[in-house]
Amino acid sequence: MPDAEVINALTVDVEDYFQVTGFERDIPRDHWERFESRVVGNTERVLELLAECDVHATFFILGWVAERFPELVRAIDAAGHEAGSHSYWHRLAYRLTPDEFRADLRQSRRVLEDLLGKRVSAFRAPSFSITLQSLWAYDILADEGFTLDSSVFPIRHDRYGIPHAPRAPFAIETPGGTVTEFPATALRLGKLNVPVSGGGYFRFLPYEITRQALASVNRRAGRPFVFYIHPWELDPRQPRLTTGTRLSRWRHYFNLTATYRRFACLLSEFRFGRLSDSVAHHAAGLPGGRLPMLRGPALNQRSQAIGLWK
Ligand SMILES: [Zn+2]
Repeated sequence: MPDAEVINALTVDVEDYFQVTGFERDIPRDHWERFESRVVGNTERVLELLAECDVHATFFILGWVAERFPELVRAIDAAGHEAGSHSYWHRLAYRLTPDEFRADLRQSRRVLEDLLGKRVSAFRAPSFSITLQSLWAYDILADEGFTLDSSVFPIRHDRYGIPHAPRAPFAIETPGGTVTEFPATALRLGKLNVPVSGGGYFRFLPYEITRQALASVNRRAGRPFVFYIHPWELDPRQPRLTTGTRLSRWRHYFNLTATYRRFACLLSEFRFGRLSDSVAHHAAGLPGGRLPMLRGPALNQRSQAIGLWK
């Protein structure tokens, strides 16, 4: 039975199968137009499933996709979901200069806001790419009117991660305002943070392990988790790309046939909502009704030492 005490955050990163970071070295962005796009059909399947389960989610939509498929963006919004930005070009934040990051963020926001006629204030960096190298991104997010972020993964990984980042939602004070961060969920096992919150991890781990891990975040840690999924992960019939490294291809294609069924199961077993609802509900139950504010002790000792945090 779903735990009534928490609202977990359900997030969907709306991008196509050929836009993932694992293939980016072999698929230049000006070649994206050459591929058969499947993002609309795949996202519509997600929307149908969520409607059946009466669940609302946050959709982080790639600007490139939003610009080409405006009806999809309107359908997401009309169904009561929260539309956020997943950047415009799906470039890793830590590979951009702050100015490049800002320009891309603005471009993505403009597309979404023009389509929806409302403010867009939630962001997820491609491949959780807010790391110790790109903590400046929070200042820019705040400057640009973003108040909610889910771009940090508190684990070790070859491409992303801030291993010592808090695992629970927290707030960050920046000169331009406060940004709330809800990190991708990791479970503490001994001295390790183990990723359990979606994407490839959801396809690799047996479903029962994921279910127990997420239930333990809700019950033992007493807090919500963030779950993330990509529409292409529900599409075993997508064209097989032969580009990228063997590791990238393995990560991308592993167990795609099981994802839809597992995802439907998960939706029936946990209580979910939009990222903003999840964070607000969680904060309301904390002392003072507020998230812990990160000012001094930083995401880890090093970030403080190099002066990235006040
Ligand atoms: Zn992405």
